[in-house]
Amino acid sequence: MNILENYNISLKNIKEKKTFDFNLTNDFFSAVESAEISIGNIDVILTVTKKALFFEFLFHLKGNVQIACDRCLELMSLPIKVDKTFTVKLGEEYCDEGDDIIIASNQSEEINIAWLLYEMIALEIPIQHKHSDGECEKAMSDILQNCLVDANNALKKENKETTDPRWDKLKNILDNN
Ligand SMILES: [Zn+2]
Repeated sequence: MNILENYNISLKNIKEKKTFDFNLTNDFFSAVESAEISIGNIDVILTVTKKALFFEFLFHLKGNVQIACDRCLELMSLPIKVDKTFTVKLGEEYCDEGDDIIIASNQSEEINIAWLLYEMIALEIPIQHKHSDGECEKAMSDILQNCLVDANNALKKENKETTDPRWDKLKNILDNN
């Protein structure tokens, strides 16, 4: 069985309110094929409340994930804390309507929240993420620093060696005289 099926929420038997607990670990991140996160541990509490015309999904996520530091590429721990509410309505077919409204199929009356959970976590990762100053893996940041210097030197050398074609023409003219 695909472990993502564990994240199917059936709306059929919810009379007033129902609470679900999940613990997202490495298996979860590999099942959703996350490129960025492979290690993490996040506790999820989902409270589903039945309203007159929809279901309210209230999520609490708390834990941490390990992601590669931009500077030294070593893993760093990033705390994750999310409190978010979605409105889930039954409709023709599953779709994400945006504005935190989700349509769950009125055929199956269930909704799989795996991707929703992953998105909430991924959105918490800042575009730039690095260790605090001085906490980067020393060896690796030295290597990267050297690579950067090498790349810069190579670029400078290249610029020197390629000459302006107009000069080449001029040189030809002078050589021929
Ligand atoms: Zn670092």
